[in-house]
Amino acid sequence: MPDLSPIPFVKAFVAGDELAYVNQSFASAAVVGDGPFTARASELLTKLAGGVGALLTPSCTHALEMTALLLDLEPGDEVIMPSFTFVSTANAYALRGAVPVFVDIRPDTLNLDETQVEAAITDRTKAIVVVHYAGVAVEMDTVLAIADKHGLTVIEDNAHGLGGSYKGRPLGSLGQMATQSFHGTKNVHCGEGGALVLNDADLLHRAEVIREKGTNRSQFFRGQVDKYRWIDIGSSYLLADPLAAFLTAQLELFEEIQAPRLTMWQRYHDKLPEWAQANGVGLPTVPADCVHPAHMYYVVMPSHEHQLGLIAHLRERNITAAFHYVPLHSAPAGKKYGRVGPGGCDVTEDLSSRLVRLPLFSQLTETEQDRVLDGLFSYPL
Ligand SMILES: *Cc1c(COP(=O)(O)O)cnc(C)c1O
Repeated sequence: MPDLSPIPFVKAFVAGDELAYVNQSFASAAVVGDGPFTARASELLTKLAGGVGALLTPSCTHALEMTALLLDLEPGDEVIMPSFTFVSTANAYALRGAVPVFVDIRPDTLNLDETQVEAAITDRTKAIVVVHYAGVAVEMDTVLAIADKHGLTVIEDNAHGLGGSYKGRPLGSLGQMATQSFHGTKNVHCGEGGALVLNDADLLHRAEVIREKGTNRSQFFRGQVDKYRWIDIGSSYLLADPLAAFLTAQLELFEEIQAPRLTMWQRYHDKLPEWAQANGVGLPTVPADCVHPAHMYYVVMPSHEHQLGLIAHLRERNITAAFHYVPLHSAPAGKKYGRVGPGGCDVTEDLSSRLVRLPLFSQLTETEQDRVLDGLFSYPL
């Protein structure tokens, strides 16, 4: 009998100390946001992602919404971004009345094609949002130079990239702002959670106000002002401290969480090239100056039929593999709220219709991974 026990696509990781820290948080009664575990997790995060400071949020989606508030967007302003990303990247700006302008991706890294960014800039453009897909860096020197020339803010949606780097600099420290996700499907998680990383002290101070309902409550608690008042627009973007406690336990063991992921990622990458080359299948490209945190492993099948075929073939073996983003520019809300830049999104449409993500998580065993590989090798191409 072949082994048909289920192999999920992702499995949330428990590092060890999470529940002890959560209990400690509840026992201390410091359960609201911005407590002692928030301080610990934020400090650990700043070591990994750089920046002058990090603010924990209930999700990456909320952190993206904070970037939209920090940009002071007005209806009709434009924000350049890839179409090949999660809905939250676009939603955050559409919520402020701004127009997401979708630029195509590169065929090798599936990242925003930096050579098409400048042509998409108009006099309404306010920012460029990059997504380090699978934790492999966007060609940031080019993007930052374009942004500098046109006076635009660069935001990194770094939901995949915690622990990755570009030319020796951590992902998250390259733009003026970066957002992190600690959703249960990400390498490091607390169920649902996120963070806004700021690389500018003025932005950090204003972000502190925005996440405290537009008040200077954080300064009040530090004894910097004698009362707190409503001084700006804002909302409630704090993460409860027991969730920050859970996250602290994960961030403390970041290397232990990452080590097996990196091994498993590399094992796919060592075992697949011969099969891929013989069958016209694409594999991830990691440019020489990029270090990635093994967030995801994917194959690019020769056609859309083979994307669906491979997913079904693996499912018969009780293995869950997944396609990824449905291009935002072709989605109903993308058409309503956004527009496509002058270069079109042909690469996005093509690759999203062929990409298959394979199971990758810290607890994946070699035996399980061998079953995934057998599934690929036995698929009729
Ligand atoms: C996961 C993800 C998000 C959203 O993260 P949440 O924490 O669930 O809000 C945003 N952008 C990208 C690129 C993601 O992968």
